[in-house]
Amino acid sequence: MTKGREYVAGVFEKVKANNAHEAEFLQAVEEVFESLVPVFDKYPKYIEENLLERLVEPERIISFRVPWVDDQGQVQVNRGYRVQFSSAIGPYKGGLRFHPSVNQSIIKFLGFEQIFKNSLTGQPIGGGKGGSNFDPKGKSDQEIMRFCQSFMTELSKHIGADTDVPAGDIGVGGREIGYLYGQYKRLRNEYTGVLTGKGLTYGGSLTRTEATGYGAVYFAEQMLKARGEDFAGKTAIVSGSGNVAIYATEKLHQLGAKVVAVSDSSGYIYDENGIDLDTLKQLKEVERARIVKYTEHHPSAVFTPAGGPSIWTIEADLAFPCATQNELNEEDAKTLAANGCIAVAEGANMPSTLEAIAVFHKEGISFGPAKAANAGGVAVSALEMAQNSQRTPWTFEEVDAKLYGIMKDIYENAAAAAQEFGQEGNLVLGANVAGFLKVAEAMSAQGVV
Ligand code: GLU
Repeated sequence: MTKGREYVAGVFEKVKANNAHEAEFLQAVEEVFESLVPVFDKYPKYIEENLLERLVEPERIISFRVPWVDDQGQVQVNRGYRVQFSSAIGPYKGGLRFHPSVNQSIIKFLGFEQIFKNSLTGQPIGGGKGGSNFDPKGKSDQEIMRFCQSFMTELSKHIGADTDVPAGDIGVGGREIGYLYGQYKRLRNEYTGVLTGKGLTYGGSLTRTEATGYGAVYFAEQMLKARGEDFAGKTAIVSGSGNVAIYATEKLHQLGAKVVAVSDSSGYIYDENGIDLDTLKQLKEVERARIVKYTEHHPSAVFTPAGGPSIWTIEADLAFPCATQNELNEEDAKTLAANGCIAVAEGANMPSTLEAIAVFHKEGISFGPAKAANAGGVAVSALEMAQNSQRTPWTFEEVDAKLYGIMKDIYENAAAAAQEFGQEGNLVLGANVAGFLKVAEAMSAQGVV
């Protein structure tokens, strides 16, 4: 066993013992740790500095009560979180997720991934994440507003434009960011870029809404290019129908691919003519309707309810998991491979299980891991911070061009790191290593903190 492997295995044992019940967090850690073995072999000084054991322990976890009053006058209580994971290379940065599945394990896995993702963007942003087990589904606008105000009343004590800058994630979009921002401003009496994903009238950036989906497609474009391919005439499955899925679909259509399926938690739609984007946007962005309603507008489309065959059983050249963690397992990966899929780019965070990733690698499917492929969202968030600081908005074209350049750089850096460490084409290893090296150097320079 090499020195690097011995060190990484020893730290992982401790992480498992200390976080035994946090399955998602351990899954995210395991994937990163495996990639870092050759890095510790090459840089023994990081072993001496016990860098990994420090990095895997969040700098701070804040957990708080969120009381609010529903439309019936009943007092409700949810749990809020903010994990400030690493400030080695910049202020904590990462989204807020409102979903009933949220717990400390989920927020920690997301925060841990965010460290590497944010580093990969090349921008000065550390890693953080937050959220609540609050379920926005079926709530009125007034209820959402009261919840957001209560959530921010506590969160405001821990964040700031130079300290920690939250944004959206599942269940937190433009409406929620607006309510959160309004409450922050009211509490602090300051107009700063403390949140990103803001509306365009109060400091938001053009292209932020599109950024994660567009970015995942720009990343996939690089993966295809390396295989001598492009999007023209290709079919694609995009799971989810939120912000990421909608704008991945939009960009895929613009670049000549045809998205034949999208989903939500109730099931998926297959439309052999290609998903109609106007209908999808109307249903999801305006009406907040269930996806089955798509068939009312397009009777030839087929709805398959959740619990039936998965969306990954559809035959397509490309797959973009853009819904949520662990939505694509080993069986699904084998089915995609058998159906001739050539590339998978993750728009969601950790949508593929470790076993599924192993299948992609074995079958020669180009695989873009979330940290790299979905970094476009947070990258444009950092551009929003820059615009807020200089108090000048940039044009759509300007931000989109920067996003494109960032995604291309991320691909090239990840591919180069994979090659340097003897695993050409393994973008999981490449992204983890490239993201880690910058953080490690910064931590090493800053001493034992
Ligand atoms: N929630 C997004 C992510 O997973 C965006 C975070 C941000 O913009 O800060 O990267």
